Amino acid sequence: MLENKVAVVTGGTRGIGLAIVKRFLEEGAKVALLGSRVETVNHALNELKEEVEKGTVLGFAPNLNDEQEVRETFQKIKETFGHFDILVNNAGMSSRTPLYQYEAKEFQKIIDLNLNSVFTCSKEAAIIMKEQQGGVILNTSSMVSLYGQPSGVGYPASKFAVNGLTKSLARELGKDHIRVNAVAPGVVNTDMVKNLPKEMIEPIIKTIPLGRMAEPVDIANAFVFLASDMASYITGAILSVDGATMV
Ligand code: NAD
Repeated sequence: MLENKVAVVTGGTRGIGLAIVKRFLEEGAKVALLGSRVETVNHALNELKEEVEKGTVLGFAPNLNDEQEVRETFQKIKETFGHFDILVNNAGMSSRTPLYQYEAKEFQKIIDLNLNSVFTCSKEAAIIMKEQQGGVILNTSSMVSLYGQPSGVGYPASKFAVNGLTKSLARELGKDHIRVNAVAPGVVNTDMVKNLPKEMIEPIIKTIPLGRMAEPVDIANAFVFLASDMASYITGAILSVDGATMV
C-alpha cells in the first residue's frame, strides 16, 4: 500500500511509533525513524537489521523543537531517499500529575513535545511537500483529546490542540495537495501504559467493548490506511481507534 513512498516517523524507536515503522516497511515504504537519543535510535535500527542492510530504513535523533535541526534532518532524508511523502508526528509523553502538584515547567515540557514539535515538524515537512506537489501529515492524538482526563491536564490539553492543528492544517494545506489527519488511539499496550498502576488500567479495560487494550499494530494499521492512496479523499479527520471505549 505504500510502495515507493518515503516516510518519517517521530518517536519511532518503540511502542506505537516502532509498530508504524515496521508496518510501513512491510507495505513497501522507505522509512526514517526519529528518536530522542542516538542510543534508542540505534537500538531500534538493530531490531530492523535486514531493512538497514537493504537501505530502506534510516535513524536520526534531532531536537524536534529546533527548527534548524529538523530542517537539516528532513533535507538529509529527502536527499538520501529522493523524496519525502509522509510525516507521522508520533513522539509524545504523558503524565498524570494532579493539578495541585502540577508545576508550570512540567506543563511546558508536555506542550513542547506533544504540540510545539508537531507544529515545527509539520511546517518543515509541508515546505518540502509543497515543492513536491503533495504529501501526507499524520498526527498521533489520543482518545483523551475527545473526553479530557481527570489528572495530568497538560496531556489532554496538548492532544486537543493536536486535533486543532490537524483540522486547521487540513484546511490550509489542501490546496497544496497535502492531506492532514490524526489517529486517536485508546489504551495501547506500550511502555507509556506499562508504567501505569494496575488499579488504573483494569477499570479502563472494563470500559472497552472489545474487552482488551489495543496492541501497537492495531494503531499502526490505521496509519497505513491514512498514509496510503486508499485515503486520497480523507483530510482533517480524527480517526478513533479505541475499541469504542466508553470513558
Ligand atoms: P512510548 O513512550 O512507548 O514512545 C514514545 C516515543 O516518543 C519514543 O519513540 C521516544 O523516543 C519518543 N520521545 C519521547 N520523548 C521525546 C523527545 N523529547 N524528543 C523526541 N522523541 C521523544 O509511547 P507510545 O505509547 O508509543 O506513544 C506514542 C504516541 O501515542 C504518543 O504521542 C502518545 O501520546 C500517543 N498515545 C499513546 C497511547 C497509549 O495508550 N500508549 C494512547 C493514546 C495516544
